[in-house]
Amino acid sequence: MGDDLTRTVADLVAGRADDWDRAGEIPRSVIRELAGQGLLCAEVDVAYGGLGLSSRDNGEYTAGVGAICSSLRSLMTSQGMAAWVIQRFGDQGQRREYLTRLAGGDTAAVAFSEAGAGSDLTGMRTRVTVEGDRAVVTGQKVWVTGAAYADLLVVVGRYGDGGAAVVVPTTSPGVRVERIAQPLGCRAAGHAMVTLDEVVLPAGNVLRGAGQPLSWLVTSALSYGRLSVAWGCVGILRACLAAATGHARVREQFGKPLAQHQLVARHLAELFVAEQVATRMCEHASLCWDSNSLNLAATVVAAKHVAARGAARGAATAVQVLASAGAVDGSPTARAYRDAKLMEIIEGSNEISQLLLAEHALAVTP
Ligand code: FAD
Repeated sequence: MGDDLTRTVADLVAGRADDWDRAGEIPRSVIRELAGQGLLCAEVDVAYGGLGLSSRDNGEYTAGVGAICSSLRSLMTSQGMAAWVIQRFGDQGQRREYLTRLAGGDTAAVAFSEAGAGSDLTGMRTRVTVEGDRAVVTGQKVWVTGAAYADLLVVVGRYGDGGAAVVVPTTSPGVRVERIAQPLGCRAAGHAMVTLDEVVLPAGNVLRGAGQPLSWLVTSALSYGRLSVAWGCVGILRACLAAATGHARVREQFGKPLAQHQLVARHLAELFVAEQVATRMCEHASLCWDSNSLNLAATVVAAKHVAARGAARGAATAVQVLASAGAVDGSPTARAYRDAKLMEIIEGSNEISQLLLAEHALAVTP
């Protein structure tokens, strides 16, 4: 299943990922085509017109796309996370309305972060209020992946003493989306700052789970994003392994292929192991997701942490093997190097992941 879907994406991308990266833009026709086929949020239930993939199958598919184009994979992560938040916190009517739209062609992004609330999202100041049949959203979000292409934003903000997620059409009066110029990596993923200036919406746009503790809402939403990013990192590692082995087989120095120089062979072995380890961690986390395991949250953080670190180091290793051939803009390894570094920052940085994992270790170890 995952392989068939990856082939569909590969056909649509048609080798243009480096061009998109340089241009900082994915053609909207490609995004519409993928969204229309439900390929940006493949876990949405068939009851809402989705593909109904398990986390395991969607993970393999996500890795496949991650190997081709991390910008596109980033859009999948955002759209899938938006769908997950709606599935998790919406009522039946909200699920039917929004999930049907997301599986049928509309695009979405998720906005948590603010200038003063990055690693510590409890510092967010965006506020959602409801009076009668109308809701008002006011705040400023930063670094929202996919916002530049999005029809809908799932905005997380304060609601009373707790938190709420609210669906905000980007065409609503008071919404301003400003693209971030020249990000380090995933340059075509449409990252943007979003200003919400007293945006008035029907009260029905506030997902019914409103009022839950903010940290709980955020953790639950991020679990999807973390697992998706982790699988994307598996894809980066696979692309880097393919590029490094392909180059080391044919490029000769000192009278023999690079692969026959033991220090280069060690790089290939390290890349191979990193890919295997990240894949196994992600498979395990997806199986936990699909079986609704009690250990899910920590398992997902561990998979994301291992995969992101592996991808950042693995991409650096691949550039080392290709050397000058991989050190130019337009080279897939140069792109992977920049994209992979960002994976150590998003959805919980390396440091935040380590804090969460240490907390878990202390809780479960006698
Ligand atoms: P800070 O929180 O300022 O942290 C700076 C450094 O200090 C980091 O290394 C961090 O790990 C470390 N640090 C912070 N606190 C601690 C601590 N207690 N102990 C140890 N170290 C600590 N946000 C969204 O809402 N939606 C998106 O779609 C989205 N996409 C993104 C895509 C990209 C490419 C990037 C770069 C960011 C994106 N973000 C998004 C924002 C992202 O979630 C934040 O950048 C991330 O949470 C880190 O926050 P910060 O950048 O403010 O860093």
